[in-house]
This record gives sequence, C-alpha cells and structure tokens, in this order.
Amino acid sequence: MDAGELVTDDIVLGLIRERLGRPDAAKGFILDGYPRNVAQAGALDQLLADLGQPLDAVVLMQVDEKALVMRLTGRRTCLDCGKVFNVYSSASGKGERCDNPVHGAESPMLKQRDDDKEDVIANRLKVYNSQTAPLIEHYRGRGLLRIVNADQPVDLVYAEFVKFTDA
Ligand SMILES: [Zn+2]
Repeated sequence: MDAGELVTDDIVLGLIRERLGRPDAAKGFILDGYPRNVAQAGALDQLLADLGQPLDAVVLMQVDEKALVMRLTGRRTCLDCGKVFNVYSSASGKGERCDNPVHGAESPMLKQRDDDKEDVIANRLKVYNSQTAPLIEHYRGRGLLRIVNADQPVDLVYAEFVKFTDA
C-alpha cells in the first residue's frame, strides 16, 4: 500500500482470516466494502466455511447515483484533526477551513481526497457497475440480500441497518 499499489486478493484474505480468528470476532463481525467482485465473494465463502462462520446477511446501502456523487465530491477532510465535512450537507462553520475548536485561531485548510474528484469518481462508478453490482444478484439469489435506503438522514440509515444485525 505504501508503494501506492493495490493489495492482492491473497493478502486481503490473509488479513481477514487473521482478524476473524481473534476472540472478539467469535460473536459476529461486519465486513465493510468487501467483497468487491464475484471472485472475491467465492474466496470469502470458502474462508468463512473453513472458519465455520458463514454470512448471515449482505446489506446493500442503496443511494441514488446523483446523491452519491454529491456526497463524494462534497467531502472535505481536515488532515490535522481528521474531522470530515461535506460542503452540501455538513459544511464547516469556517468555510474552507476546519471549525474544530482544537485548532485555535489558525485553522487548517480542508482538503479533498484525490479519489473524490469528479473524473476519478466517474471511473470508480464504472468499476462498481461492472465488478461490484453483480454481487447484488449473486447474494439475492442466495437469500442473503438486505437493502437499506441510505439516501436519508444518518440516524434513519443507522436504524434500518441495525435491524439487520443482532446487535
Ligand atoms: Zn481540524
């Protein structure tokens, strides 16, 4: 990752195997953003079968593509304190600078992640639609798919999501 390269599937699976083997994962776990394609889903199934911890549910956080693009292009981060803003929905009280009081008078400028820029997002969506979206039917066919309307306020999204867990 330090070299700016993608981590191979084998390395990711090794990390997941190691993490799920720890005691706190015995009661359950949530994988966020994985698997990203059908090949990874197959490898994950095999790993989880080995561990005796098969998937109970797969949750699709559904957002209209236009809303999604606004969320991504609007995202700004303070590299100093880590606070995340959105220029459309939760802007900083200090405009292009961070409004976290920890900074005192000299607030740092907010930054946009390179992969949140519009041309990069178009490519990410293309990859999603060709590689990741087929997982929806893959998991629907196995009766595991649950859908959350993620195009609403955070507390409502959270409430819908929690319904699908035993937490
Ligand atoms: Zn800050």
